[in-house]
Amino acid sequence: MTAETDARIAHLLHHRKAGLALGEPVVPPISVATTFHLPQTQGAVHSYGRAGQPTWDAVEAQLAILEGAEVVSFPSGMAAITAALLCCLKAGARVMIPSDGYYVTRLLGRDMLQVYGVEVVPVPTLDMESADFTGFDVIYIETPSNPGLDTIDISNIATRAHAAGARVIVDNTTMTPLLQRPLDLGADLVVAADTKAPAGHSDALFGHVAGRDTVLMARVADWRRLSGSVPGPFEAYLVHRGLETLEVRLSRMCASAAVIAERLTKHPDVRAVRYPGLPGDPSNKAVGGQMVNGGFLIGFELADAATAEGFLARCNLIEQATSFGGVHSAGERRARWGDDVADGFIRLSVGVEPVEVLWQSIEAALASPG
Ligand SMILES: *Cc1c(COP(=O)(O)O)cnc(C)c1O
Repeated sequence: MTAETDARIAHLLHHRKAGLALGEPVVPPISVATTFHLPQTQGAVHSYGRAGQPTWDAVEAQLAILEGAEVVSFPSGMAAITAALLCCLKAGARVMIPSDGYYVTRLLGRDMLQVYGVEVVPVPTLDMESADFTGFDVIYIETPSNPGLDTIDISNIATRAHAAGARVIVDNTTMTPLLQRPLDLGADLVVAADTKAPAGHSDALFGHVAGRDTVLMARVADWRRLSGSVPGPFEAYLVHRGLETLEVRLSRMCASAAVIAERLTKHPDVRAVRYPGLPGDPSNKAVGGQMVNGGFLIGFELADAATAEGFLARCNLIEQATSFGGVHSAGERRARWGDDVADGFIRLSVGVEPVEVLWQSIEAALASPG
């Protein structure tokens, strides 16, 4: 982590301190009020729960410190993605999205945006590097892509998109603002599923949009208020709590992922290991540049679907679950969702288990007959 990031993490942990009066709680209360004392309509910080409330304020303050930007929180990653896209698009607009990115974003484009007259053009992440952006209103990218872990140069995309008059939205879920900072590289908006590593314990759905264009961010806040796509106070509290340990968890998860990816490459039954932190990986060029490290996600292939399912069933330290970024290592065969990957492809999200114990369980599950 850079000195700036270290400063952000420390600031995040103490962000409430300056505003606390004598005897007030150090952690933010879970505020469940839908209505606020309002003898007059002017001058109140809060009026009605759909427009804003104190527990959102607390988690948005943390996220704003990490992003160095304005932040609007949402009840899920998809709610944030929907808000960002609809605030930048109108009927007749064109958006380029990754054909190999998070599959629900593709479905949103195909089954929802297109219905409202938006043209959605899916392009493989790697081809976006040279794609012609002429006539596009939004270039939407995900780097590293989920689950293929391909990367593209965010600042190059931003420069070319802006020259073509398009805005750039980056889904930064796989990295988090601690490991990659798309707004610093020219992106107009960042969207993220805080459901993943920021909440970190597989117990809260949450998302946010971050940006430095005040007018655009006001529109995102309006989107939330008018559409009613509002996070719950308990989830906001859980994400606030999760963010306090994000850096500590990520340090363990990413360090362990590097060890496990390297050992997987040496295993005779494992093929096509993808981990951006591996020196030979096609995405390695981004590490040390736009990515602080290789992250905590690994992709690899076993012989076929049955072998992969057998491995996942036998491994006692890999939860068989979708999603990633939690404290428990989790893995799944992505072809079961229709991702364009080999039948035996597994996406592994490395958790915080001590690495040697985790590796032993992986090695034992690989060794057993399928
Ligand atoms: C999980 C995920 C989302 C959606 O987040 P939800 O909180 O499940 O709505 C979006 N983008 C990426 C890259 C994800 O992994």
